[in-house]
Amino acid sequence: MLQFEETGAVPAAMPPMAADGAPSQMPAGEELRRVNVADKRIINGQTDVNQLVPFKYKWAWDKYLSACANHWMPQEIQMSRDIELWKNPNGLTEDERRIVKRNLGFFVTADSLAANNIVLGTYRHITAPECRQYLLRQAFEEAIHTHAYQYIVESLGLNEGEIFNAYHEVSSIRAKDEFLIPFIDVLTNPAFKTGTPENDQKLLKSLIVFACLMEGLFFYVGFAQILALGRQNKMTGAAEQYQYILRDESMHCNFGIDLINTIKMENPHLWTAEFREELKELFHKGVELEYKYAEDTMPRGVLGLNAAMFKEYLRFIANRRAQQIGLDPLFEGATNPFPWMSEMIDLKKERNFFETRVIEYQTGGALSWD
Ligand code: FE
Repeated sequence: MLQFEETGAVPAAMPPMAADGAPSQMPAGEELRRVNVADKRIINGQTDVNQLVPFKYKWAWDKYLSACANHWMPQEIQMSRDIELWKNPNGLTEDERRIVKRNLGFFVTADSLAANNIVLGTYRHITAPECRQYLLRQAFEEAIHTHAYQYIVESLGLNEGEIFNAYHEVSSIRAKDEFLIPFIDVLTNPAFKTGTPENDQKLLKSLIVFACLMEGLFFYVGFAQILALGRQNKMTGAAEQYQYILRDESMHCNFGIDLINTIKMENPHLWTAEFREELKELFHKGVELEYKYAEDTMPRGVLGLNAAMFKEYLRFIANRRAQQIGLDPLFEGATNPFPWMSEMIDLKKERNFFETRVIEYQTGGALSWD
């Protein structure tokens, strides 16, 4: 600050010279506050977190722009056909209804956990402003997702108390959340600070659990089930919202993976053999928990899906997540039984699979209001 001018105090040193030899307008000390791009770090950075540009982590900014271009709101999607089908006693089978209710039971609170994890945990430990900018957008998207589930629950007239309590009352949902919560608690603990190898590994582990196992694995049985309903022309309003959520989540997961890999690159000492072993165990546990959830939500085959197919699918996804962060694949030879899911993730905004949405946003941030 230019405090010496206000107080009349004399600067301790002569103002630094500009490149052309003329005295700089900036008093001594001020220049030191300018961020040198090369000094930016994802964690434990010493640079000013308020100086977004010049960019060092352009990939984070690009993801922020893409996320904004994908903006959507739940209430733009018509639910009238879903409501009609849900209220028709012969509209859906009991197994299909179970899938919808279990799904909402998991997701209504999962995105809230994700939001808290970002806002109260991750955000304050990340020192790259480009990454913080993306996290702010991601936090809003988690709110939109919770809004979407609430909108579906309300539209269908479901028992709100039952759905929002599922994470306490349904063991396959509770087990997934109980697995996650310690990794959130580490980061949200006000006493937790990065800066030691041990704590930096704790942060990295939480980021990996979140990106690779929560957003990258725990969401996928539920997404595949609701999108399978949509592909059979059932619950198309809900399915369309899940499709947008899947697109957002796959970007959250990809951002997380870029974040993790950059932290690894900047801090190679964290990636020890012991740490990698610990991660492998967590991946196995994650697959096991999500498989239990698949069995619980599909006691019988439904919609051409069954729990056994998900065993293969989860192994396939876990291999992919492991490889994305530089771990060896965990399940040799696992293949993808649902190639149509990739098509859903790669949704281009111009393509509206279930065709129930009334407004389209335009790429580049401009909005269309007609
Ligand atoms: Fe997310």
